[in-house]
Amino acid sequence: MTEKLFRDVEYNYRRINEQIAEAAAKAGKSREDITLLAATKTVDAAVINHAISLGLDHIGENRVQELLSKYDSYDLSRCSLQFIGHLQTNKVRQIVGKVDLIQSVDSFKLAKEISAQSLKRNLKTDILVEVNIGREENKSGVFEENLEELLCQISGLEGISVKGLMTIPPICEEKCKISKYFFNMHKLFIDISEKKLDNVCMTILSMGMSEDFCEAIIEGANMVRIGSALFGARKYT
Ligand SMILES: *Cc1c(COP(=O)(O)O)cnc(C)c1O
Repeated sequence: MTEKLFRDVEYNYRRINEQIAEAAAKAGKSREDITLLAATKTVDAAVINHAISLGLDHIGENRVQELLSKYDSYDLSRCSLQFIGHLQTNKVRQIVGKVDLIQSVDSFKLAKEISAQSLKRNLKTDILVEVNIGREENKSGVFEENLEELLCQISGLEGISVKGLMTIPPICEEKCKISKYFFNMHKLFIDISEKKLDNVCMTILSMGMSEDFCEAIIEGANMVRIGSALFGARKYT
C-alpha cells in the first residue's frame, strides 16, 4: 500500500514539475523561477518525507495542531516549513520559530502578535499578506483597497518581514474566470511593488493550487501550493 502510494507521489511529482516548466515557459520564465510548495494537510509525515527525498523543498501546513503533531517527524534538513492556513492570534506563539514563512496574514492584530512572539525569541518572521481577491464574504484575506494601509501598518513592526502576497481565488467552473482573478492579483502585486513601501519586499506571489496552477503561473505566480495533485485526494478522518 505504502509502496504504491510512494510510486504515485513520485509519478505525480515528476509530472507536476513538467507542467510547471511548461507554464513557466509560456510566461517567459523557467522552472527555477517558480517555487513548488506542497500543501501537506492530512498527509502522513512518511509520505511527505518521501516527496522531500525526491527533491521537494517547500511544504505548508494549514492547522497548528496538525503541524505540531507532525513537527518532529518532518525531515526539514533541506526543506522549508510554512504555514498556509487561517491562523488564530492565540496560536501564533506555538508556531513562531518553527515555520520559515507565514503565508496567511490578513490583519494588523495578527501581524502584531507574530511580531511580539518573534521579538521574544530574537527572531524575524517572514510573512505574506493574504488578499481576498474575489471579495468573498466568508473568506480570509484583506480586500485589495485595504492592502496598502495594512502593509504600511505592518511595515512599522519589528520582528516581521513582508515578503509578498498570497491569495485563494473563488472556485470557478471556467478557466478564463480564474485567470482573471490571477491577472488582477498580479497587477496588484506589481502596483504595490512599484510603491516601494519601506520594509516591504514584494518578491513572492503565492497563488494557484492543483486545479489551476498552470493558469496562475501564466498570469504571474512565482509560488504555487499543490496538495491533491501530488498526494492524491485527501482522506479526512
Ligand atoms: C489545501 C490547500 C492548497 C492545496 O489544495 P489542492 O487543491 O489540494 O492542491 C493550497 N493552499 C491552501 C491554503 C490550502 O489549504
